[in-house]
Amino acid sequence: MAMFFSYLYVHVPFCIRKCKYCSFYSLPYDRDLEKLYIKAILKEIEIMREIPHLLKTIYIGGGTPSCLDIHNLEKLLLNLRKNFKTTHNIEFSIEINPKTVDMQKLDLMRDFGINRLSIGVQSFNDKELLFLGRIHNSEDAINTVKLSLNKGFKNISIDLIYGIPCQTLRSWEETLNKAVNMDIRHISLYELSIEHNTKLAKEFSSKKFSLLSEDDVTYMYEFANDFLKDKGFKKYEISNFAQKGFQCSHNISYWLRKPYLGIGPSSHSFIDNKRFHNPSDLFSYAETLLNGNFAWIYDYSVDKVEGLKENIFLGLRMKEGIILKKACLLNFLKNFEKEKLLTLSGNKVRLTDKGMILSNEIFARVLLHIENCPVCKQE
Ligand code: SF4
Repeated sequence: MAMFFSYLYVHVPFCIRKCKYCSFYSLPYDRDLEKLYIKAILKEIEIMREIPHLLKTIYIGGGTPSCLDIHNLEKLLLNLRKNFKTTHNIEFSIEINPKTVDMQKLDLMRDFGINRLSIGVQSFNDKELLFLGRIHNSEDAINTVKLSLNKGFKNISIDLIYGIPCQTLRSWEETLNKAVNMDIRHISLYELSIEHNTKLAKEFSSKKFSLLSEDDVTYMYEFANDFLKDKGFKKYEISNFAQKGFQCSHNISYWLRKPYLGIGPSSHSFIDNKRFHNPSDLFSYAETLLNGNFAWIYDYSVDKVEGLKENIFLGLRMKEGIILKKACLLNFLKNFEKEKLLTLSGNKVRLTDKGMILSNEIFARVLLHIENCPVCKQE
């Protein structure tokens, strides 16, 4: 297969302050580091534009891309636009956080063709935002959504978190209610998890709070499913809900295992059936590029068995499901069908709502089967 990609991810590694629950690679915003980052990523763009491509989507994520200084943001956008070929109806997204954007930045984003904003709202409850260590309150979040709408952005997504220890079903319902009343098109829901090496993990081990019960958290997810469905937001992936025509094409490309290129420190790429990642460390990332080399570090080639596994744990996340041709595996999946966790219709496999809640368990069992089954490996 020739090298070619249609999806581009751009990682911006800075945040104003680390949220308590976050384990992503990000650095505290710093002007000198930002300069180094911009210098390096412009070099990376110059190198990567040589790979054949026609972009259907660009997604600038982080970190907090919106905390970049406006002149540096302009440089980045200008260089992306100048160096990569795009389709006329490209989906061009950027993640923004309340308190890090103003009218000028939003104007700039729109003028460079960004047409989808993903806003890190997380909650419309101040107590919960404080618990999470966010830099904004609910009023800031509402103002950011309003400002974005005023600036003409018609495709706005917000992220929300459920399962926060101080959250109640009532406050969750209030958050969801505020969200759907704001003329946004897409909502991503994430369950709060306690990741290693986060402030939250420390607080948890020193017993500063206790977790909600598994049943309560599951109920919050189920509640949101019904609530959002009722309000016209259709679930198209385990964590993602959209009004008609507003599904995120960029993220769908990951679940469908389309080739994509990631640039910026700690980004991942999937090209020519091989997986790569860039160094997480900004300094080694920048040094490699400024010496004129690819920052890519080769991870592994995706052979048939690996591809099958990925198809399970990525493709099956989608409501649409996947087509499976392996008779042995289809036979194995009948066990889950009996438990009403998935449906099988010919070669088509789809998780049920119950299956989506238990997806991690299902994926682990299926992957173990593939690993131990010589027939699945050979077929
Ligand atoms: S803003 Fe986003 S990337 Fe930055 S620390 Fe918070 S959750 Fe992590």
